[in-house]
Amino acid sequence: MDPFGRTIDYLRLSVTDRCNERCLYCMPENYRPWTQRGDHLSADEIVRIAATATELGFRKFRLTGGEPLIRPDIVDIARRIWDLAGVQTLGVSTNALMLPRLAEPLKQAGVRSINISLDTLDPMVYQRLTGGRLAAVLAGIDAAVAAGFECIKLNCVLLRGINDEQVLALAEFGAARAMPVRFIELMPLAPDGALDERHFFSVAEAMTRLARHDALDPATTKPVGHGPARYYRLRRSGGLVGFIGAVTCTDFCASCNKLRLTADGKLRPCLGRHGEIDLLDALRCDAMTASVLPAAIHQAIANKPEKHAFADEFEVARPMTAIGG
Ligand code: SAM
Ligand code: SF4
Repeated sequence: MDPFGRTIDYLRLSVTDRCNERCLYCMPENYRPWTQRGDHLSADEIVRIAATATELGFRKFRLTGGEPLIRPDIVDIARRIWDLAGVQTLGVSTNALMLPRLAEPLKQAGVRSINISLDTLDPMVYQRLTGGRLAAVLAGIDAAVAAGFECIKLNCVLLRGINDEQVLALAEFGAARAMPVRFIELMPLAPDGALDERHFFSVAEAMTRLARHDALDPATTKPVGHGPARYYRLRRSGGLVGFIGAVTCTDFCASCNKLRLTADGKLRPCLGRHGEIDLLDALRCDAMTASVLPAAIHQAIANKPEKHAFADEFEVARPMTAIGG
């Protein structure tokens, strides 16, 4: 339990700050990797932290990044985490580019749910926004379906003037594949000015846009690993859509249940506040690991703020790709 009565049982593990795409909202232009050679946590170190977390009551884990699937040992990491006693759900967040090769091994390793970034169905816009190819992502989505994950969700960051006209098309794309689509407000976590507040498009505006075409009924069921989204069922298409109002929803943090681990070994109590606890020394000194790791996790829980600080002239210290979304 944190100081605000929230049960913290979800750990997001960023396994790299590097990526094979360059999304404008996540990775600064000319991004130089945050982690230096040798700074990335090893698979053993990541699993050791996850194991300690399970002993302290953590039950949900997600592998993220950067792009987690570019790590050659990602399937091994997933399998070892899934094998830990007490793990109830294991998810992966990905841009899907490497799913044609990795979906099946990840499923076999124990991964239950996959979250895939898909901000647009327009190949040109996709290229502009991410530097990547939409066709490759669609192939990755097909591979995830073929592998038979329990739940596949699509994540779309809302961007005025870039993809705000696409919310209906994305919702219908998800509905046709029985995949929940989550619309996420742009958080100020990419510091180089490629996007600014003029691109901000709120979840309320997205709901209004959708409601012009299809009625939204509050959903009675939520998908696996549902997180902070508010879910609605589209009456005509039957699709499930979620809205993550990270910036405008005043009660957004009330149900927060997570800590984050960065790829360079920092425990981060809140995405939208600075203040990290460094685990590297403890991990790299056997004499310290057993006592310091649990204490550090307890400390991170005790340090969780009531709310993020995105509205308080938040200064970006780490871009999203170096935190782990
Ligand atoms: N590479 C994977 C991917 O794209 O899904 C995992 C890492 S990515 C940082 C995780 C999630 O964070 C994605 O859904 C992405 O859209 C979201 N994200 C990144 N930067 C964001 C920002 N500035 N505001 C809101 N969401 C953001
Ligand atoms: Fe890479 Fe994901 Fe960030 Fe895009 S959102 S740059 S795919 S880590």
